[in-house]
Amino acid sequence: MGSVKKEMAVFDSEAASEMMKELRVAFGSGKTRSYEWRLSQLKSLLKMAEDREQDIVQALRSDLSKPELESSIYEVSMLKGACTLAIKKLKTLDDAGKAEIVPEPLGVVLVISPWNYPLLLSLDPIIGAIAAGNAVVLKPSEIAPATSSLLAKLVGEYMDNSLIRVVEGAVAETTALLEQKWDKICYTGNGRTGRIVMAAAAKHLTPVLLELGGKCPAVVDLSINLQVATRRIIAGKWACNNGQTCVAVDYILTTKDYAPKLVDSLKHELESFYGKNPLESKDLSRIVNSNHFARLTKLLDEDKVSGKIIHGGERDKANLKIAPTILLDVPRDSLIMNEEIFGPLLPIFTVDKIEDSFDVINSGTKPLAAYLFTNNKRLKEQFVTTISAGGMIVNDTVIHLAVDTLPFGGVQESGMGSYHGKFSFDAFTHKKAVLYRGFAGDAPVRYPPYTKGKLTLMKALMSGSIFGVICALIGWSKN
Ligand code: NAD
Repeated sequence: MGSVKKEMAVFDSEAASEMMKELRVAFGSGKTRSYEWRLSQLKSLLKMAEDREQDIVQALRSDLSKPELESSIYEVSMLKGACTLAIKKLKTLDDAGKAEIVPEPLGVVLVISPWNYPLLLSLDPIIGAIAAGNAVVLKPSEIAPATSSLLAKLVGEYMDNSLIRVVEGAVAETTALLEQKWDKICYTGNGRTGRIVMAAAAKHLTPVLLELGGKCPAVVDLSINLQVATRRIIAGKWACNNGQTCVAVDYILTTKDYAPKLVDSLKHELESFYGKNPLESKDLSRIVNSNHFARLTKLLDEDKVSGKIIHGGERDKANLKIAPTILLDVPRDSLIMNEEIFGPLLPIFTVDKIEDSFDVINSGTKPLAAYLFTNNKRLKEQFVTTISAGGMIVNDTVIHLAVDTLPFGGVQESGMGSYHGKFSFDAFTHKKAVLYRGFAGDAPVRYPPYTKGKLTLMKALMSGSIFGVICALIGWSKN
């Protein structure tokens, strides 16, 4: 249960530097640039996901007691979808830049992933990196050890290891990797480590893609289809890895008058989904380890918060389970309202008027996702124009990240840069500006010796004034 310490060979700075040398040579051979190599690697990745779905489901069950449906849909199927799209679009992505913008791979890139969707968040960025023609090192999270070692094994078996590697390990190994000069670092995880990654990258002027988290609000207006809204909120909270999801609903904002109706609906639907004893439900992931269990119970046990639980609150320390828990009117200065919850606790914060919710959201850091449930057109517009967030959905939760025409990423403290679909290719590509010229049309006007006439003509050309050009050519000046 929880994180397991494993015996493995030490991966230190020397090993990291040796590995970098090998990868640079392999990348320098130009192999990753060929269409055939990129296609074959993407096909191998797809095959890996197809052949080994049951191993993956098993590893995720071991790491998180993740229900098979969630593993199959939110990890394996999403990975297969992203891979299939990259394969289908690979030619068009290449052709996009033939004329003036030539896409080129960045080089050797590092992908550091977290434990909550340990398969998808490791391999999804890699699809973009391969499609763009980069060499890749993946460092999966040590907090999901079964998935980490499965990834190391499968990537070893299915991919071209002269260019695509997995380094397993925790802080020491990641630190050794971060000392190297990478051409891009893609990090998914919390903002505290994000700052460490960015500081290490800054030493080499390495660009970063930071996929971070934060508190994602859901604003619930009245006059909506309450049952559908409630089910979608539950789907975006407890049915996503029991709240351990970066875009899970972190807290709800609604009016004082509407809160009792919403609470009744949430209780009713929760019971219909997870039964009277949710701690025994097979459809809820467990908390990943005892540290996170302790962190979450600390949020619940704070003096000013513990009396605000109106549903759930049960916990099973031995099995690392916490029941879906709803809290009403927690104080704004409580811990639970000031840090990302990342678990099955859902505070409802009430306001006098629904529009006041926007001030509450804007008083915090910019969320990775923000949700609004309403039928009011004006409120929708106000929400989209006044709230800054990585992404937003009106009348649903979470599913925007499955729309491959939308970039997925945060803003300010919720992240930097984005990926998914074509944006994954862009994230790992340099857009090189190329201009082709012939030798004709070599105008003397740009060369010395400079004259007043040349200056007037150049100014007219730059300002696009035909009249000015004619005047300059005939030597007529207004002065
Ligand atoms: P984590 O603890 O697994 O850490 C992420 C990675 O950072 C791991 O590979 C880990 O080995 C490495 N790491 C940890 N400490 C380090 C250090 N001191 N130096 C170098 N590397 C270090 O995962 P986490 O941070 O607990 O993940 C949860 C967070 O990630 C939440 O904030 C969540 O919102 C965010 N998240 C964001 C997204 C997204 O797509 N934006 C997706 C999932 C999770």
